[in-house]
Amino acid sequence: MKSSGHLEFDKEFPNLKKGIIKVILEVANQACIKRIAIVGGVLRDKLILDLHKQPLKNFQDLDLVIEGSPEKFARVLSEKLGTCRVNIKKINAAYQTVELTIDNLLIDIARARTEKYSKPAENPSIFPCSIEEDLYRRDFTINSIALDLRTFELLDPYKGSNAIKNRIITFIHSGSAAEDPTRIFRAARYASRLDFEMTPESIRQIKSTITSWPWDWTFSQTPESAPPGLSTRLRMEIELLMKQDKWQTAIQNLQNWQALLLLDKDLQNDNNWKRRIHWAFRLGVSPFSAFISKASSPAFLASRLQLPLNEQHLLIEAQKIIKHFQILEFSGKTKDWGPYEWCNEIEPNKWNKQAILIAICSGISLWQPLFRWWGKWSRIKSKTNAKDLLANGWEAGPAIGRELKRLREIEIRNYQNKKQTSDN
Ligand code: ATP
Ligand code: MG
Repeated sequence: MKSSGHLEFDKEFPNLKKGIIKVILEVANQACIKRIAIVGGVLRDKLILDLHKQPLKNFQDLDLVIEGSPEKFARVLSEKLGTCRVNIKKINAAYQTVELTIDNLLIDIARARTEKYSKPAENPSIFPCSIEEDLYRRDFTINSIALDLRTFELLDPYKGSNAIKNRIITFIHSGSAAEDPTRIFRAARYASRLDFEMTPESIRQIKSTITSWPWDWTFSQTPESAPPGLSTRLRMEIELLMKQDKWQTAIQNLQNWQALLLLDKDLQNDNNWKRRIHWAFRLGVSPFSAFISKASSPAFLASRLQLPLNEQHLLIEAQKIIKHFQILEFSGKTKDWGPYEWCNEIEPNKWNKQAILIAICSGISLWQPLFRWWGKWSRIKSKTNAKDLLANGWEAGPAIGRELKRLREIEIRNYQNKKQTSDN
């Protein structure tokens, strides 16, 4: 992208609505913002398009960095363009960032800042700085490029354009992975999404960082005491990774880099995660939960990553189901069981169906009857319902429940007999 000095450069960003950059710049002038630049995905993907003719991906947001107050800028944007067009969604005063939409385009505005990590993986303290200095705090050279919107000059101190040309991902500095281990997961996501390679040097950084474990928190401590870079922020990165089409390549990258050790040693050594996640998508259950259901302690990991409480409970229940079925298998008594016996085994436990599905995904050896129960047997109903019984003179009360259960058992037996006849 060469300097043009013109304002008609919206066509340079084919994934942005025409005129939007011009509008943003006009308001930045009115708000006396000293400098403003585009950074992040929109610029990176545009450079990839220019250099490799690779189609633009759906981007998440337009990232802007400014030398000035994002909050003030957001207020002026809202005054000038009106609240119909501008919707301020989130103001983070501590980090001086604002998330807003203009005509439904999600825009992330950050004050140019340097970051200081008091301890690795903790949240950093920030200090205002120039846009050039800001680029040092970023994750990879391909993401540390800015386009000054006034001069239309490309600021690329770490040769990110070269990295894009060579399709490589490389950390900005040697302490990058230690400072913020979520960058390792980001690297895996970008490598798969963009079809780029992590450089051997950066892979060495990942491996040596994890081996030396520079973080205060260890697995012997409580899950709640893990720092954000090993808990909430890591979860958010995994969620993003699971949402993209190439999740399989991304997780494979992490495993090749020994980076699943950041989550759990059993996951690092596990060869069945693809199957579990595929099944989770197929059965409509959380792929994240299915993935971590084979950790040495899924409950501990789920709590450390601060998964929503209901998902944590499902994982705990899924573990109970898995255990139950392991004992059942060991007993050897299920050999000649049909739907009737399986229903009697499963239903009294009143397990949550989502937890049952996670157990199915986890690949227990008795998954088939559990799957059939979920897909077919649990749905067999008695032909008569409570209303019919009442109409036939039954009195309201628990006897009706017992009768309905008996009638359903007859239907299950009938199904079983029919199935046996057709199978023979
Ligand atoms: P996408 O197309 O997915 O939005 P993106 O590169 O814009 O890609 P964002 O998550 O929007 O990704 O982040 C915007 C920019 O912020 C990144 O390009 C990167 O420069 C910086 N960034 C985000 N997360 C980190 C991090 N953990 N460490 C350092 N820099 C980060
Ligand atoms: Mg972005």
